[in-house]
Amino acid sequence: MHSSQQSINDILMYHHTTENGLTTQEAQKRLQNYGKNVPTEEKETNKLKILTRQIKSFIIYIMIGAAIVSIILNEVTDAIVITIIIVMNIILGFIQEYKAEKAIEALHKLTKPLATVLRDNKIQDISTEELVPGDLLILEAGSYIGADARVIEVTGLQTNESTLTGESNPVQKNIQTIKEEVIIQKQTNMLFAGTVITQGRAKAVVTSTGQHTELGKIAHQIQIAEEKQTPLQKKLHTFGIKATVAILIIAGIIFIIGFLRGEPMYTSFLVAVALAVAAIPEGLPAVITISLALGTKRMARKKALMRTLPAVEALGSTTVICTDKTGTLTENKMQVEALYANRMLYTRAEACAQKHTLRDLAEIAFLCNNATQQKHPDPTEQGILVMAQELGMNHKDHRIQEIPFTSETKYMMTINKIDNKTIAYMKGAPEIVLRHCSYVLSKGRRYRITQKDTEEIVHHAELCAKGGLRVLGFAKSRDNTKNELQFVGLMAMRDPPREGVKESIAQCHDAGINVIMITGDHATTAQAIAHEIGITGKVMTGDVLETLSVEQLLPHVNDVRIYARVSPEHKVKIVKALQKKGHIVAMTGDGVNDAPALKNADIGTAVGSGTDIAKGAADMILIDDNFTTIVAAVEEGRGIFMN
Ligand code: ADP
Ligand code: MG
Repeated sequence: MHSSQQSINDILMYHHTTENGLTTQEAQKRLQNYGKNVPTEEKETNKLKILTRQIKSFIIYIMIGAAIVSIILNEVTDAIVITIIIVMNIILGFIQEYKAEKAIEALHKLTKPLATVLRDNKIQDISTEELVPGDLLILEAGSYIGADARVIEVTGLQTNESTLTGESNPVQKNIQTIKEEVIIQKQTNMLFAGTVITQGRAKAVVTSTGQHTELGKIAHQIQIAEEKQTPLQKKLHTFGIKATVAILIIAGIIFIIGFLRGEPMYTSFLVAVALAVAAIPEGLPAVITISLALGTKRMARKKALMRTLPAVEALGSTTVICTDKTGTLTENKMQVEALYANRMLYTRAEACAQKHTLRDLAEIAFLCNNATQQKHPDPTEQGILVMAQELGMNHKDHRIQEIPFTSETKYMMTINKIDNKTIAYMKGAPEIVLRHCSYVLSKGRRYRITQKDTEEIVHHAELCAKGGLRVLGFAKSRDNTKNELQFVGLMAMRDPPREGVKESIAQCHDAGINVIMITGDHATTAQAIAHEIGITGKVMTGDVLETLSVEQLLPHVNDVRIYARVSPEHKVKIVKALQKKGHIVAMTGDGVNDAPALKNADIGTAVGSGTDIAKGAADMILIDDNFTTIVAAVEEGRGIFMN
């Protein structure tokens, strides 16, 4: 029976596993039995191929020809010397190229996505190659799926299976057992290796790995893309061909002149060969590859992983860096500093001293929160959770439904069942939350929301934002509708700029590189942080950007330095407009929907803590998420380019 037709219990039994996952010991044993989880036979650096590439070269042919001529003419010393030179040439070329290939291979290994599994009842990240049938996968939006698996738990799960089926529309997944055998597209309780999660969360049991997955079955049909040549490599390649032809003609002429002047034919021949060997620049493109590859090694040491060679070259010519604020310019260590509720503002200390007046706010903060369930908790949620715990919250979640947070909607909602009552909780950007509120809850009493209430709330949100704080609004309802919400309060959190960012930005400006901040945060918050780190210029918000076409954005794009309250899809517009102005653009991103912008940018840059999808679309990965790393990499890129 196919895994999609087995019930959850059957599937767990069939694979001798539980909802706590396998033990590490059992997983090791299975790895021995089933082998590594790789879709095709692994291809090691092929030493033979590199060697033949050295021998199959024009220069070597010329020299072999010269050696043969020497032997025929019985010039033994010459023949030996030429042979030694040939061998040395091959060995040196081999060593260099082998080193370069190893450097690229090591990099590919580093940039491979990991799989998150539950083993020994602990969540851990392992190499995807070590997945075995029976492993319990933990997946969330942006995760890459490492093996075929049967879903056993879902929250709003959607996947994109275009790599497998060619269909790019999202597929909704659930846990229902399917009655009959159906095609892959209809196996809505199965997840497939090589596809990605675009929304929601899931737990799934691995059912097959390696060549037994749907991907493995077709892997031999998927062509591995040839490594593209960089613009510089292309230019040098054409130059090389032209130069070779010219030199061969000159060598021919020298040979003929020597012959005409009555010199021995053999001497003229050797002179011509020596000239050709010395002057033909056939190693040029290889030299570029080698210096780019070794450059990537130095960049990796500075915590910037390059995924493609052309990007190394483009990096050196970067003129604009578009960077996320949260996490890249700032530390992403969110700490609540101020709260607003009961129509007054509290500091954190005041709030802790008056816990009893903040029960409603703490309840939403605690229950409309995923920090405890995520493999890499969102720092915003974590900050809110810690605050809620300090306010005395600590009960079990009885969640029955969730609308997950996305950077587009900028809110999250949960529906919980508490003491037989169904209550909806919402948190998100204050203006979005307010839009759904018909009431205000103050000191436990409910009032119809007035114009004045709204103004007061917006005023306090603005006040916090001016201090550079990120502000979230909180609301709840008495039932499960999202239209009759009661506004409860605000939490404002500090996320300080990273150390060294200010200096790196100054360094960029000195080098003629513009730095542009892009954030989902409020314009006022963004501006306050930008001011702290030395980014000054016009601000544009997402709702304005929304109404402009790329063409209409062109007159503004050279002046705007801060884009606030933007959604990921806006980033593509920004990249395109900048490129039309002749800029070489580096753009950072982390989420599922950042992928198009990263693909469009000249140097798509994913942060190390970002999703697999973003990393897959990027040219460069910042291991430490840090803006200063981009600047260090650009500097390194410039060095390589100059060489
Ligand atoms: P950024 O680009 O700074 O990471 P986001 O798109 O993550 O911005 O967030 C935009 C806004 O959405 C924030 O200013 C905040 O008001 C709200 N927000 C952020 N994270 C959450 C969350 N986990 N739940 C609800 N609202 C959130
Ligand atoms: Mg964010």
